[in-house]
Parts: sequence; structure tokens; C-alpha cells
Amino acid sequence: MTSSISGSLTVIGLGPGNAAQVTPEALAAIEAGEDFFGYGPYVDRLNLRDDQRRHASDNREEISRAEAALMLAAKGGRVCVVSGGDAGVFAMAAAVCEAIEAGPAEWREIHFSVVPGITAMLAVAARVGAPLGHDFCAISLSDNLKPWELIEKRLIAAAEAGFVMAFYNPVSKARPHQLSRAFDVLRAHLPGSVTVVFGRAAGRPDERMRIEPLSNAHSDMADMATCIIVGSTETRLIERPGQAPLVYSPRSAGKI
Ligand code: SAH
Repeated sequence: MTSSISGSLTVIGLGPGNAAQVTPEALAAIEAGEDFFGYGPYVDRLNLRDDQRRHASDNREEISRAEAALMLAAKGGRVCVVSGGDAGVFAMAAAVCEAIEAGPAEWREIHFSVVPGITAMLAVAARVGAPLGHDFCAISLSDNLKPWELIEKRLIAAAEAGFVMAFYNPVSKARPHQLSRAFDVLRAHLPGSVTVVFGRAAGRPDERMRIEPLSNAHSDMADMATCIIVGSTETRLIERPGQAPLVYSPRSAGKI
């Protein structure tokens, strides 16, 4: 069957927060878009023309935002949904897919595409060296969409399997104690000497990188703009005179 809907929905990752880290593909997709949906601060990053429209919303309204964008695309609009970092990493691309799956059959005819972006853990990793140089995983510490017990189970499994871990959504006002709890869980399964990188606002003017051993890691060292990378026992720290240390995870890491 040929598609009867001419509208399109493009989900675009805007990178960690500076113009140089927005890909040319993302810029071209923004240029071609008519309506832009997203969390306010992300929509604010766009330099839109007068003929392009903003639809900013709160960051808790992901599914209703996805549905509003799909409804407009179903009417023939060239619609964009924007996220920070990569749109497929703890962001809008999955919410749009979820809405397509649950929504009316005609939404499946919309031309749907995802433009990738530089995700936070890559921006942070690049600042300190190569902490993601061997096997790693990414875990959101937010329990908005999954129970905290499952997060703890994944932390333990990842620590025992020797993965480097990148934590997204490490804290929020509603969850002040969970990051402390996560560090306590890790301290029970990893040596205190394991390197932890607190990468705040990577790529933005207020960027701050802090490196601590797990034994010193504290929830005060992170906020909502921080991506935390917890090394494995193989992760190495190279001290350098007059420069920040390098953190890297050797490619050959891992023994049975
Ligand atoms: N889609 C985004 C992640 C959204 S979840 C991405 O791919 O990067 C939001 C979390 O991402 C924040 O709580 C923080 O952990 C992380 N984050 C987003 N931008 C960041 C940045 N510039 N520096 C460090 N962490 C960032």
C-alpha cells in the first residue's frame, strides 16, 4: 500500500549543548522543519526563522508531546521533535515510537526518522580521556519509569560483570537520596579505588569535570546536568604535570 500521509516526523538530537557539537545532519533537518516540539530549554537552543513554529512543553509530558507532534504530522506537517544529546538515549525517540505503537493506524504511515546526536556520556568521556574504552553500559538512575529495586539490581549486575557505567539522570529534587544509595551499593561490590568521573554540563560554558575515587564519591558532587562515569577495576588514571589527569579503560580489559 502506498502511503497516503505526506507529513513527516523527524526526531533530532541536538548534542550536549554547544553549537559546534550539533551535526550538519541535524542542522539540515532543522532547516527543513516547520513545527518544533520539545522540552523548553531544548527548543530554546534552536535558531528558528519566523515561519517556523515552537511548541515548548514541560519535561514530564513526553507522551502527550509525542502525540501532539504525530497528530500534526498526520495532517501533513513537517514536524520535528528535539532532544538534548542523542534523541534515542533516555529521550524522545522512544516516546515517539511508543506513541506510534499505541496510536491510530494512520500514524504508521508518517515518514518517521531519527537524526543522531552526541550523547552526554560521549561528551564527558572525551573531556577526560577514554573511560568508555572497554565494555560499558548506560543506566538512568531515574525511577520515574522503573522501580528503584530494578536499578539496584542492574547496578550490581554491571559491577559484577566488570562494565564501566555511565549514569544519566543521577539526581532530582524528588529523589535526593538515591545517588547516595547507588554509591553505597557500588561500594559493596567494587573497590573504593575505582575512578568516578562527575561530568557536569559537558560542552557548555559552565562545564565542570571532577574525578574522585569511589570511596569519596558523594551525591553532592552531582546535579541534574551531570553524567557520571564509574570506571571498572581496569580503568586507569594517569597523572600529568600542569594538566588534568587522564582517565582511560584499556581496550584489553577483562579476565575471567
Ligand atoms: N538524550 C540525552 C540524555 C537525556 S537524560 C543525551 O543523549 O545526552 C538527561 C540527563 O543527561 C541529565 O540528567 C544528565 O545526566 C545527562 N546530560 C545531558 N546533557 C549533559 C551534559 N551536557 N553534560 C553532562 N550530562 C548531561
